[in-house]
Amino acid sequence: MKQTAAAEQAYEMVAGLEVHVELKTRTKMFCGCPNAFDAPPNTNVCPVCLGLPGALPALNREAVVYAVRAGLALHCEIARDSAFARKHYFYPDLPKAYQISQHEQPLCTGGWLDIRTEAGEKRIRIARLHMEEDAGKLLHGGEDTRIDLNRCGVPLVEIVTEPDFRTAAEARAFLHGLRAVLLCIGVSDCRMNEGSMRCDVNLSVRPAGRSALGVRTEMKNINSIAFAGKAMDSEFRRQAALLRAGGAVRRQTRRFDPASGQTVLMREKESEDDYRFFPEPDLPPLRLERADIEAIRAGMPELPEEKKRRYVRTLGLTESDADILSAQPALGAAFDLARTRCREPARLANLLVQEVSRFADEEAQPFSPEDLAALSDLLSGETLHMGSARRVLEHMQKTGASPAEAVDALELSLLSDRAALDAVVRGIVRDNEALAQRYRSGKARAFQAIMGKIMQATKGRAHPAIAARLLEEVLREPDGP
Ligand code: ADP
Ligand code: MG
Ligand code: ZN
Repeated sequence: MKQTAAAEQAYEMVAGLEVHVELKTRTKMFCGCPNAFDAPPNTNVCPVCLGLPGALPALNREAVVYAVRAGLALHCEIARDSAFARKHYFYPDLPKAYQISQHEQPLCTGGWLDIRTEAGEKRIRIARLHMEEDAGKLLHGGEDTRIDLNRCGVPLVEIVTEPDFRTAAEARAFLHGLRAVLLCIGVSDCRMNEGSMRCDVNLSVRPAGRSALGVRTEMKNINSIAFAGKAMDSEFRRQAALLRAGGAVRRQTRRFDPASGQTVLMREKESEDDYRFFPEPDLPPLRLERADIEAIRAGMPELPEEKKRRYVRTLGLTESDADILSAQPALGAAFDLARTRCREPARLANLLVQEVSRFADEEAQPFSPEDLAALSDLLSGETLHMGSARRVLEHMQKTGASPAEAVDALELSLLSDRAALDAVVRGIVRDNEALAQRYRSGKARAFQAIMGKIMQATKGRAHPAIAARLLEEVLREPDGP
């Protein structure tokens, strides 16, 4: 009996994220070396970031400003007093054998980020955001492994959430939202594939309805948002299956293997890691004046959530179009430039989200604001159908034509001339007397069939609303067309 109960038990996922984000300051966190992603190996190094004995760190002011911006954007409390600590561990990419981080006195605590999934809106609580330095990189070759120390001392913020995630979709939405916020405030380029944004997932399961947390595993250094979601789904299934079979989850560090879609054991964690934290003796505590924090707050741009609200309230965009435009900087910038030039901002937004986004990459999109506004106006008028917009954009991109020229060249302009359409409609009704009779005798479906014939005859160019109106009129005429 007990066995059956366990087998039928429903489990709930509980997960928290730790996200590391590289700050794009000009120089590193504690020395004057350039902070650059693709320099030749071991060229951006000095005694400080190599950890040579006697070299002294000096805190980069720009890194602090960026971290405070990130904290403010996530609605955190900014500590006026925070402090650095040494976190000790040995690894070949860490020449000092300790990382300068923040431990007991982080810079920021207690924030949140609102996310939206198909299940609705949800607030994810941020436990803390602290500053730390990055380590170097191991380059695994065929025969050997080499070490590139250029990344040593690059400033990072680590953002730690409360265990608020219940589905992989929520975590994906959070990572997308976090990325949008950090891109918006200009503190990081957040490229997960280049490692400037990395995430660890902590995950446990528990019987649905229980409030105590289960034993968690940690999946380290996941380098894409999609992988984070897949790792969570697969780890959830693994843990739930273990419990259902009467087993127990063990505290482990695992990694996600994209090839198998499974998480794989890296090491058992019998006890907590002991990093021998102690206060960093070479750096004074970090003190921020209230005026410093307020100056940074005053320089903050409009955040995605604020922008989204403005788009919905004052411009009449749909929630989902506003969500996407406020989260994607290049697309959002295109919208802002084009919207004052077009008749219907909501139509333009829809065009950008549905169609233009296919042509744009994350940083740029190929069409001018004038062209986007003109195309939007063709849709607003009676000239073009949204279903044809993609072909028009392709033609514009290939030939440099204007929207109107492209519509002409492709012969996509809608037939909205009433007299011309009226003739077409009458002709179709005459040729399809049987369908017309069925409609008149109450078979409403026959209407769509006749509309289909009209579209066929005009190669899809009949303006749908006008054609439908004309068809209704013609069918209502007592003695036929
Ligand atoms: P550590 O010091 O081991 O890194 P933290 O307390 O900083 O642990 O938590 C790391 C992350 O793990 C946080 O995002 C937190 O919300 C999450 N977390 C903690 N306990 C659990 C649990 N039992 N199940 C799921 N996530 C958890
Ligand atoms: Mg942690
Ligand atoms: Zn250096």
